[in-house]
Amino acid sequence: MSSDCLFCKIVAGEIPADVIYESDTAIGFRDINAQAPTHAVVIPRKHIATINDIEPEDQAVVGSLYTAAKAIAAQEGIADVGYRAVMNCNEAAGQTVFHIHLHVLGGRTLTWPPG
Ligand code: 5GP
Ligand code: ZN
Repeated sequence: MSSDCLFCKIVAGEIPADVIYESDTAIGFRDINAQAPTHAVVIPRKHIATINDIEPEDQAVVGSLYTAAKAIAAQEGIADVGYRAVMNCNEAAGQTVFHIHLHVLGGRTLTWPPG
């Protein structure tokens, strides 16, 4: 845990979140500033700051974020119609919380390319 990390505090239960998925390695909760009818954030319980900080031993944990995304999409009823699972890395991509997270977005038509 990183003591000054917002998402570590959510993992620890120190900051409330609308948690919709939990596993041994990951949790998913609704984004506080939803950009789509379904907008969940899936994070590892382990603090990893950015994609650039993922180490080989983190592969299973990072893979589990996609297992979580799949489960959330099914729960939300958007699995078949389609959804997006995307992770921003560093400032130019719009990362604002430096604890890796998959955005799971769906429930509306999503355009490509993203802005
Ligand atoms: P980023 O911009 O780093 O890719 O995504 C961070 C996301 O976390 C944003 O979509 C933002 O709305 C969300 N977020 C930031 N603070 C909180 C919070 O305290 N609770 C929840 N549920 N989401 C948050
Ligand atoms: Zn953290």
